[in-house]
Amino acid sequence: MSTPIFSIANQKGGVGKTTTAISLASALAERKKRVLLLDLDSQANATSGLGLPKTEGRSILSALLDDADAAALVQPTSVPGLDLIASELDLAGAERELAGLPAYLQRLRTVLSPIAESGKYDFAFIDCPPSLNILTLNAFCASDGVIIPMQCEYFALEGISVILRMIDKLREAGAAPALAVEGIVMTMYDVRTNLSRQVTDEIKTHFPQALYSTLIPRSVRLAEAPSHGQSVLAYAPDSTGAAAYRKLAREFLKRRAAKDPAHA
Ligand code: ATP
Ligand code: MG
Repeated sequence: MSTPIFSIANQKGGVGKTTTAISLASALAERKKRVLLLDLDSQANATSGLGLPKTEGRSILSALLDDADAAALVQPTSVPGLDLIASELDLAGAERELAGLPAYLQRLRTVLSPIAESGKYDFAFIDCPPSLNILTLNAFCASDGVIIPMQCEYFALEGISVILRMIDKLREAGAAPALAVEGIVMTMYDVRTNLSRQVTDEIKTHFPQALYSTLIPRSVRLAEAPSHGQSVLAYAPDSTGAAAYRKLAREFLKRRAAKDPAHA
């Protein structure tokens, strides 16, 4: 059975995509799920955040451009059950080359499909760059769903309409016929401010089904974890940030079970 793939995306920078990718993937692995994380951002924050080096030739780029076997690029991480396809700086130059290939929006789908079909993983996540560029569109076309982390700030709602329009466009054009929003997760939630609550209420009004009820609080431990090359679950297992991502993992699994019982 094919592994469901989820893009973690928001064209806005610094909203918690990578933190969510690492922490949700680790929390699912902690629950004995087999998880693959693909770092598709040339900043390679998911790679270094999991303590892996950026090694030339180990990113998905060689598969995207030269048909290298993507499975051979998979590396284990220090988290049992969590594997990674790392990133490196040269992904930054991939866009123009990709755009010159036939069916360039489907390249990632094609190279990931042997891994997905192997059934080795319960879930795969793609940590996307902060832009709706060709790499992100490739991620969308390879995905069953998109998870959108949103920072609790004033312009959040405007940002989300852009990404939703892109998802609709790809679906309508037939490039990603079954693509859907898997969920919206509010990050850096600050209980002391009215703004966090107001923004979250507004998102809830507009997207009652998509919004996860789990709120990710602003947490110093979450911000510190990447510099130690560890997920927050390993770095500060008893922190509020770790607890929040464990809760998100439970909610993710529950929603999955409702949407797609065969894969839950
Ligand atoms: P980019 O768009 O650059 O890829 P991103 O959307 O992946 O950014 P992150 O790298 O996850 O965002 O987070 C941005 C910064 O905020 C990082 O320094 C991260 O450690 C910090 N951060 C993320 N989530 C939280 C949180 N809940 N509490 C405190 N700090 C956080
Ligand atoms: Mg990131």
